[in-house]
Amino acid sequence: MRVFARTPINIAEVKLPLGEVYLIPERCKGCNLCIHFCPKQVLEESTGTNAKGYHYPEIISGREEDCVNCEFCTMVCPEFAIYTLEVEQ
Ligand code: SF4
Ligand code: SF4
Repeated sequence: MRVFARTPINIAEVKLPLGEVYLIPERCKGCNLCIHFCPKQVLEESTGTNAKGYHYPEIISGREEDCVNCEFCTMVCPEFAIYTLEVEQ
């Protein structure tokens, strides 16, 4: 859901980007930085673990269409374990 302090006059022309999240679970060290920095609250800690025993992130059920491809998760991940690609709309 988009929340604006005031409604832009050209809101009909504004199209938010849509991102698709990719994860390399074996690189993850479970620091949760990606989860905390995601401005759209798309990610959560999974119940599953990788071979090192870390809980890698996963997309919250029902939020698959909420990633705006801002790449914050990619920028903060110290292990290069998560990235996103923009989806053509
Ligand atoms: S690209 Fe942005 S919105 Fe998408 S999962 Fe990463 S931090 Fe969240
Ligand atoms: S920021 Fe990277 S290492 Fe940390 S939980 Fe997210 S994917 Fe794993």
